[in-house]
Amino acid sequence: MAPRTYAIVTYGCQMNEHDSEIMAGLLETRGMTRVEDENGADVVLFNTCTVRDGAESRAYGRVESLVSAKRANPDMVIAVCGCSAQDRGQALLERYEHVDLVIGTRDYVKVDQLVEEVWRSQQRLVAIDDIDKPLSLPTVPVRRSSLKAYVNIMFGCNNRCTFCIVPKTRGVEFSRPLEEIVEEVKRLAAQGYREVCLLGQNVNSYVDAQRHDFADLLHALDEIDGIWRIRYTTSNPKSAKHRHLAAIAQCPKVMENLHLPVQSGNNRVLRQMKRAYNVERYRFLVAMYRDLCPGGALTTDMIVGFPSESEAEFRDTLRLTEEMRFDQQFMFMYSPRKGTPAADTMRNDVPLAMKKDRLQRLIQLQEEISTEVNRAEIGRLHEVLVEGPARRGDDMMGRTRTDKTVVFPGDASLAGQLVQVRITNAWSHTLRGEVLTPSMSKVAAG
Ligand code: SF4
Repeated sequence: MAPRTYAIVTYGCQMNEHDSEIMAGLLETRGMTRVEDENGADVVLFNTCTVRDGAESRAYGRVESLVSAKRANPDMVIAVCGCSAQDRGQALLERYEHVDLVIGTRDYVKVDQLVEEVWRSQQRLVAIDDIDKPLSLPTVPVRRSSLKAYVNIMFGCNNRCTFCIVPKTRGVEFSRPLEEIVEEVKRLAAQGYREVCLLGQNVNSYVDAQRHDFADLLHALDEIDGIWRIRYTTSNPKSAKHRHLAAIAQCPKVMENLHLPVQSGNNRVLRQMKRAYNVERYRFLVAMYRDLCPGGALTTDMIVGFPSESEAEFRDTLRLTEEMRFDQQFMFMYSPRKGTPAADTMRNDVPLAMKKDRLQRLIQLQEEISTEVNRAEIGRLHEVLVEGPARRGDDMMGRTRTDKTVVFPGDASLAGQLVQVRITNAWSHTLRGEVLTPSMSKVAAG
């Protein structure tokens, strides 16, 4: 009998991407093989996101498109997992008769057993109860890259930002033991991975049972031979400390690209969001980071059109953007999420047209700044980890330590190497360069 096949459709953040890698590994330990087209698969997992309407409705559109495939293959198991599954639970089985399984954000580590149980019992199942339980991760992820790897360092979030559904869908904070993370990264180094990206909703509040914090973790991982680069996301101004930022400067393998979401440039709006810091604190942290890591990149998240945000308050966001000169921003219109304090207690009173106008003005300003910041790189040398062919043309592509994408002439033999690149041109999201010499970075020798 041909091995069973599975397909995974992933929406949302890097944490979801890595959860999908872990679920793929679990299904492959049961002898299943991956296919890209979900219509012909025996098992289809939809790993959903609920941070914004768009991501959620796209996922359910695709779930609905499988009705005829399920009729053609009644043995097919269709599962919805991730944050929207955790949020909706049983209601999803009532809404979609062709869905067999709903898996929560801490139950996905049992996906293989749950799929087998659906086949064995011929029952439809909901597994969303482990939301506040510590998670021990299976060690079998099927990673999408052989060069860069995601590593979960913690789960959940104890903050209560009023616009955010994550605490409800990802549960309370739980930090993995430092030793366990070090062992995972050592295994990755032994498998030839050169870059790791540490994942957490709020990495600055990482603290394990032995009271190791985020700075301790960075220093411990910096010692591991064979790992050349350490990235981390997402940081939080509320819990970022000097020792965390100092570790970025002190550890040669820790990359100088800090993603520090600010969300608004106005203190009254930040209070409404319950972000637990003000613009002055944010400025102080950024000044500290830029002092410790001259030339380091800074990116952020920003929400426009939050309930009751006035034109003057939005202009504070534009002013902060001009002042901070972020390398990049991820910019969003406020999208009420049912079950969040903002959606349940605040009127979504900024008209859609006004939200769109503010978003456009912010995007335009940020595009100008990103272009200026990147054009200042022309003529400079950057160490680049070559990832592979560029999406277009015959060039190769890679990223600088500051996480900027660089395209340059070169052949496939450069993939996986650290090279020295001189920047020759720049746009808002991409740099162009020429390889001077393949060079071992001062740490690559390990
Ligand atoms: S810090 Fe705030 S925005 Fe980030 S995941 Fe936690 S609640 Fe959501």
